[in-house]
Amino acid sequence: MGPFYCPDDGKVYLDISFFDDLVTQLGAQGGPFAQGYVIAHEYGHHVQDELGLLQDQSTGTGAHSQSVRIELQADCLAGVWAKHAADTAYIDPPSAADIAQALDAAAAVGDDRVQQETQGRVAPERWTHGSSSQRQHWFSSGYQTGDLDACDTSGAL
Ligand SMILES: [Zn+2]
Repeated sequence: MGPFYCPDDGKVYLDISFFDDLVTQLGAQGGPFAQGYVIAHEYGHHVQDELGLLQDQSTGTGAHSQSVRIELQADCLAGVWAKHAADTAYIDPPSAADIAQALDAAAAVGDDRVQQETQGRVAPERWTHGSSSQRQHWFSSGYQTGDLDACDTSGAL
């Protein structure tokens, strides 16, 4: 099972073998910042939970579903984290290669990419997390602005 956030106990659950799967099964290049993106995404769900933004999480699937909007917002919050973690010297400022790792990982876990790899076709009506390009876009929005207000995915298409 992939990493997930559990609202009932406010914890992130992560089998670190997922980081191997990310490379061997999902085709990501991997690396520390790819892993950082994955963890920050899950903590993004905790932030959403704290802000009351996790309601209606399970409202359907599909490219325009609430599920996708919530997942893309967590990607954006992962970017916000990266920006502030660097600005506050919690982590070394990420290099262009580091950010590329995160964006590569975001693309690798995009619904269209995963569906194409596992089923040989893309079915947007079953998306739950958004496309590769959407996931990259929202991580970038968060990272470039560091601003929660940039993470309004309610109109994300
Ligand atoms: Zn998520």
